[in-house]
Amino acid sequence: MSAWNPKMEFMPKEELDKLQLKLLKALVHRLYDYSPFYRQRMDLAKVHPDRIRSLTDVAKLPCMQKKDLRDLEPGQLFMASNRELVRYHASSGTTGRPTIVGYTQKDVDTWTESVARGIASAGLGADDILQVAYTYGLFTGGLGLHYGAERLGCTVVPASTGNSERQLDMIKRLGVTAIACTPSYLMHLGEVSQRIGLDIKSDTNLRLGILGAEPWSEGMRGRMEDGLGVKAINIYGTSELSGPLWCECVEQRGMHVWGDQTLLEVVDPETGETLSPGEKGELVVTMLLKEAVPIIRYRTGDITTVDWEECGCGRSHPRLGRITGRVDDMLIIRGINVFPSQVEYVLMSNPELGNEFQIVLERKGALDDMLVRVELKPESFQDNVAKLESLKSRINERLKNTLMISAEVELTEPGTLPRFEGKAKRVVDKRNI
Ligand code: AMP
Ligand code: ZN
Repeated sequence: MSAWNPKMEFMPKEELDKLQLKLLKALVHRLYDYSPFYRQRMDLAKVHPDRIRSLTDVAKLPCMQKKDLRDLEPGQLFMASNRELVRYHASSGTTGRPTIVGYTQKDVDTWTESVARGIASAGLGADDILQVAYTYGLFTGGLGLHYGAERLGCTVVPASTGNSERQLDMIKRLGVTAIACTPSYLMHLGEVSQRIGLDIKSDTNLRLGILGAEPWSEGMRGRMEDGLGVKAINIYGTSELSGPLWCECVEQRGMHVWGDQTLLEVVDPETGETLSPGEKGELVVTMLLKEAVPIIRYRTGDITTVDWEECGCGRSHPRLGRITGRVDDMLIIRGINVFPSQVEYVLMSNPELGNEFQIVLERKGALDDMLVRVELKPESFQDNVAKLESLKSRINERLKNTLMISAEVELTEPGTLPRFEGKAKRVVDKRNI
């Protein structure tokens, strides 16, 4: 069995517990002493670091939300100077404003170690050629997988997203053995390969997919494994915590979360009460080692379970189940987070538009397709075609800049979109995952 860091990965649970507690105490003391933000939060919650005496005491600490990261200026939250920072990444927030995360060299190293351990546990090694078909850039997927795979000794093909025929050509010509991308993109590659007469199963060496950044199902796993001959491995992470961090081992029974870096809780999303192992609720994460942007009790908004039962691979670390939903209205479209409020924000800045809009999501082939339908104001409805076309392309452009994905825009006649007496239902999600 290949393991990147056997000493850590197979550490007995009692030792791991002790290590976690030691790291938690050190983290809380550091933040109380040096972070005005965390000190104020802890004072408000009336928890002094000395009150953290066991791992369950973590529940006494205040939680953090995506909005904290979005609303605070980097200077208020960051605990590293420009000199110490080596990188920034960003992800979309609930409004047009992105959440920005900075990394010290140690942060990048810890993240890289987590990815290297994970993909090694999934069966990758120095003989593998991994094509990284996640976006490279502010999004964490591309560089996260890239660094982890290089650390492990894999040969990396930094393909980034798009240009499917070229992706397939690389897979074939370079003898690529594994691909990291969204599950829907792998399905899409399957469709394109059929169209160009390439049989991924028999004409290529592709045998493993590291698939995440969006929800997917066991049904999709079956299709990719049977249809393409690609073992489908789930990987999870969020930019606030670093990026892609944890993936399934060869057993494919949940994603190992490295306890020497991370402390997990699952809470009732309504009451915030801690749930027992195996119970479904909102995932709350404390990153024990992060330097530049420390994270205590981050409420991810993702619904899942955490399991501490020993895995068939022998690793002692807890396992995260599939993400089965969100506590908020965040949508994940082609791997990108989209909040309906961001769409609203873009639309409402156009005086020609009315108040009603609708977001329609569909799967076209294997990929997500987004249509934004919005009502015109009666006076703008009279405008000539050229004027309306120019309005449409302006909205298109702004949606693309704000959401980082493109959407089709349909301008509709006033009064034609559904009205709601209660909470408006803006999203019609016809995707069947
Ligand atoms: P980002 O911060 O852009 O990396 O987006 C992180 C979010 O993507 C998470 O909070 C999840 O909602 C979603 N996500 C990432 N990986 C997975 C996965 N394997 N399954 C389901 N959802 C995922
Ligand atoms: Zn395992």
